[in-house]
Amino acid sequence: MDSVVKIMGVPIDKLGAEGAYNKFVSLFKEDEFAMLFTPNPEIVMCAQEDEDLMRALVDADLVIPDGIGLIYASKMHNLGLNERVPGIEMMDRILKFCNNTGSSIYLLGGKPGIADKAAQKMVKAYPNLKVKGTQDGYFAPEDELKVIDRINETKADILFVAMGAPRQEKWIYKHRKVLNARVAMGVGGALDVWAGSVKRAPKLFINLGLEWLWRLLREPHRIVRMMSIPKFLIRTILSRDISK
Ligand code: UDP
Repeated sequence: MDSVVKIMGVPIDKLGAEGAYNKFVSLFKEDEFAMLFTPNPEIVMCAQEDEDLMRALVDADLVIPDGIGLIYASKMHNLGLNERVPGIEMMDRILKFCNNTGSSIYLLGGKPGIADKAAQKMVKAYPNLKVKGTQDGYFAPEDELKVIDRINETKADILFVAMGAPRQEKWIYKHRKVLNARVAMGVGGALDVWAGSVKRAPKLFINLGLEWLWRLLREPHRIVRMMSIPKFLIRTILSRDISK
């Protein structure tokens, strides 16, 4: 059985949380730089019009479905993608992995101070975790190379990039040949959650597949980007085949 399914051109690994984690571990062990992305329907729709984002997703090494809409679309079209794999939970597994193996991380993104605060909380939760450095996500474009040099100098194994989608995916993709980490992952607002400035949805919302609604209620400005979700749904319903 093919372990990758395409939804509107975006390849997504059909592995479930456990399988995705196992794939991360094997990518980590390889010498090549690996990219891990966590699309949802908004990102899939964005990629229809943004070639760079589409290329980043197509060339990624591990793509997990962080959006219940992808699972609904898969069910409607019988594509076999049955389990949502939230990026923040995948990140947590990776932090545990680093804690157990003595591997190190670098946190890039968020408003000034957020990555530091997130790092402190992470080390509290995982005392063996090595956070090699942090950098906010609002540096000037002309400082980009300096930022990359600083990241590389730390020799961190994992680079978490929290600059929001699609910026983070395109940033990782653009610099994939010069970044020295083993794995780079786009983690959206996860540093805000770790830092405590944003709360993740209660379990009830998550279990009902309504985490997106919780986020919308907490951050109403999201409505603008979430307008792409009905478009995704309509296309899912009207298309005979979305697996291309
Ligand atoms: N961000 C950043 N640089 C920017 C724009 C945004 O570091 O130029 C950060 C922002 O502070 C926030 C995260 O990116 O921490 C975006 O979070 P969001 O919840 O929007 O993530 P998404 O839903 O896009 O994955």
